[in-house]
Amino acid sequence: VSKRDGKMRCTWFKPEFDHSLEALRDLDNELRAGLLNNEFEVHYQPLVDARTHEIVAAEALLRWARPDGREIGPDVFVPVAEESGLINSIGQWVLRRACTDALSWDIQLSVNISAAQLRNPEFPFQLGQILEETGLPPERLELEITETCLVLDPVVAERTLDLVRGLGVDVVLDDFGTGYASIGFLRQFRFEKLKLDRSLVVDAASDESSRAMMLSSISMARALAMRVTAEGVETEDQATMVRSAGCDHLQGWLYFAPMPARDIAPHLSRPASANGARKRPGRKVA
Ligand code: C2E
Ligand code: MG
Ligand code: MG
Ligand code: MG
Repeated sequence: VSKRDGKMRCTWFKPEFDHSLEALRDLDNELRAGLLNNEFEVHYQPLVDARTHEIVAAEALLRWARPDGREIGPDVFVPVAEESGLINSIGQWVLRRACTDALSWDIQLSVNISAAQLRNPEFPFQLGQILEETGLPPERLELEITETCLVLDPVVAERTLDLVRGLGVDVVLDDFGTGYASIGFLRQFRFEKLKLDRSLVVDAASDESSRAMMLSSISMARALAMRVTAEGVETEDQATMVRSAGCDHLQGWLYFAPMPARDIAPHLSRPASANGARKRPGRKVA
């Protein structure tokens, strides 16, 4: 477990994590209580322009500060909340919080939406209501979804995404390069943006065939008029590689780690620096 970005990076598959049914039910109850007791927080990770290094957007990432001090990442608790349906309430809370935080920022806001949320027929209406309540201009918001959201029921997903776009909100395909069905879905769902998964970024920096796959993904995205973000950029070598491959936006610890809302504002008012890394990642920001 590393504390690099200020929280434990445990995953769903960590052997020390208790997968028993009782443990999962307990965790779900704690999540339910945590939502009522205000234990959740949203952190934000800036995305920078590949050329100017100016901050162009921020991704909302959910954090849970448990009363017992144990830190559990969204990789672990989001799947549990999805299983019980609690993710619908948590997801609405995240959207409301993030849209409020981003009101004074002059950049795009990106929010992760899980498959269970997208399947909820109420979702587009809830989203419209949150935009109205908070006053965030819909063009400033984009939703990150993964292909899991699409494979289960592409017909329903397409209808939901049409309603979302009808509100003026863009849709981003997250974690591209980790699944199987993505290429066909790119055409079908006409995403505004594509995020190349960190694993693809890491592999492409060292391995020829991964690089070829990245290049063809990017040219396909280009042909379909999508913007491309490289996720999880940690080294200058990776940054150079994804920039020359044609990525528009870069996101990763090389530039910024996720940080609380109050820490982001000072970075936004500053002019873009030539070398980009205005804040060294790796330090604890939580
Ligand atoms: P994601 O949407 O793909 O988010 C990117 C993850 O990569 C985040 O992990 C982020 O902290 C991490 N990351 C950013 N830069 C680097 C880097 O340079 N190196 C490495 N190794 N990692 C980096 P995090 O915050 O633990 O979130 C994990 C996943 O949990 C997210 O993956 C997303 O799928 C899910 N998630 C987070 N917040 C929410 C939320 O509000 N709602 C839903 N439904 N899911 C969320
Ligand atoms: Mg994401
Ligand atoms: Mg991702
Ligand atoms: Mg992910």
